[in-house]
Amino acid sequence: MDCILRQTHFLNARLADGSLADLTVTGGRFSAIAPAANAAAPPAGAVDLAGQLVLPAFVEGHIHLDTSFYGDAWRPHIPCTDGFDVRERVAFQMRSLEQAAPMDERAKNQLELCVGHGSLAMRSHVMVDAAVGLKHVETILGVREKYRELIDIQLVAFPQSGILSSPRTAELLDEALKLGCDLIGGLDPASFDRDVNGHLDVVFGLAERRGVGVDIHLHDGGTLGLFEIEEICARTAAMSMQGKVAVSHAYALGHISADTLARAGEMLAASGVAIMTNAPGNHPFPPVAALRKAGVTVFAGSDNIRDSWWPYGDGDMLNRANMIGYRSGFYEDRELEAACDLVSHAGAKALGLEGYGIAVGAKADFVALKAEHVPEAVVAVPRERTVFRRGMLVARDSRMTS
Ligand SMILES: [Zn+2]
Repeated sequence: MDCILRQTHFLNARLADGSLADLTVTGGRFSAIAPAANAAAPPAGAVDLAGQLVLPAFVEGHIHLDTSFYGDAWRPHIPCTDGFDVRERVAFQMRSLEQAAPMDERAKNQLELCVGHGSLAMRSHVMVDAAVGLKHVETILGVREKYRELIDIQLVAFPQSGILSSPRTAELLDEALKLGCDLIGGLDPASFDRDVNGHLDVVFGLAERRGVGVDIHLHDGGTLGLFEIEEICARTAAMSMQGKVAVSHAYALGHISADTLARAGEMLAASGVAIMTNAPGNHPFPPVAALRKAGVTVFAGSDNIRDSWWPYGDGDMLNRANMIGYRSGFYEDRELEAACDLVSHAGAKALGLEGYGIAVGAKADFVALKAEHVPEAVVAVPRERTVFRRGMLVARDSRMTS
C-alpha cells in the first residue's frame, strides 16, 4: 500500500461530538483535524464525506478464523445430547472441519467480511491440539501475512481440546508462540482439564517464557467460574501483567449477585484483566455497565461466525454493539455510546493497539457512515458505509473495493 508520503483531505466529516471537521491524512496518519472550512476551492483529490459520521475502524476482539464455514456450504447445526457441552461441541467441530473447504479460503472469506464492515484490527484464536498439531496456526499465519496491509491481526494459540487432557499440547502451544502467535490462550481450566492450577501454570508459564499476553476462554459459570477469574487476576497481578490479560466470555460474571459482582469488578480493574463478551444467545453474560463503572475494560467480538458452534454471526462489529446494547437494556445515549466503545476504543485498549482513534497522530483507519451521531449508528446499523485503511478506501457498503 503506497501511503508513505501521500496526503488526502476528507471534508465535512461528522465527529462523535456532532461537529463537522476536515481531516487531513499524511503518510497514513491523521496530520490535521480542523473545523470544516467549506472552502470555495477544496484541495485537489479531496473526499467530501458530506456530513457522514466518522468512527475509528472497529476492533474485532474475538474471532476464530480457522473454524468458520462462512462462504462454504451451509452446515445445519447439530445440537448437544443434553444442554451445552464444550467437549461434545469440540467433537462435532472436528467432524465438520474434515468436510469443509480449505482453511485459507474460509479464513479469507471471513476476513473480507470483517474488513467490509469496517473492522481493521482483530484478535483471532487458532486451534492447537494433538490432533491438528500446528496445521491451523501455520495456515492462519500465512493468511495473516497476505492481509497484513489491510488488517492488523493478533493470533492466540488456543488449546481447543484442553492442555492437560490433550497430550503434547503444552509443547505445541510453545511451538505456536515461537512460530508467531502473539498470545497464549486457555480453556475452562476447571471443567475441561479439572485442574485449575495445572492449567494456569502452563498458560502463565508460557506467557512469562515467551513474553506474550493471555486470553482465556472461560465458560465455567457461577462460583466455580468466579474462582477461576480470581486465580487469573491473582496471577496477572503477581506477574505484573496488568493490561495484557483477558478473559473471554466469563459467563460466571452474569450469574453472581450484585455485591459479589461489585467485588469482582474491583478485582478485575485492579489487576488489569479485561473481559470480552459477544452477548451470546440465551446465556447470562457479564453485566457490561456495572463492570465499566468499576473501571474494567470490556471489549467485544463476534466469536463464532457460521461454524459448528452456532449458525449466527455477520462479522459486523457495529451490529455486535447493537446486540450487546439490546441485551444489556441500553436505551440512553450514553449507554449506546458505551456499546460503541466496546467495539472501538475499549477493544483497542484491550488489544494494546498503538495510534488508535480519530485524533492527530493516530492511524487513519476509519469508517464513514450515514448516521447523525453514535447512538443512531448503534441502533440503525447502517450498511451503507465506507472503510478507509491508512486513509485509503478499502471497502464500500460492506464489500471490499478490490
Ligand atoms: Zn471463542
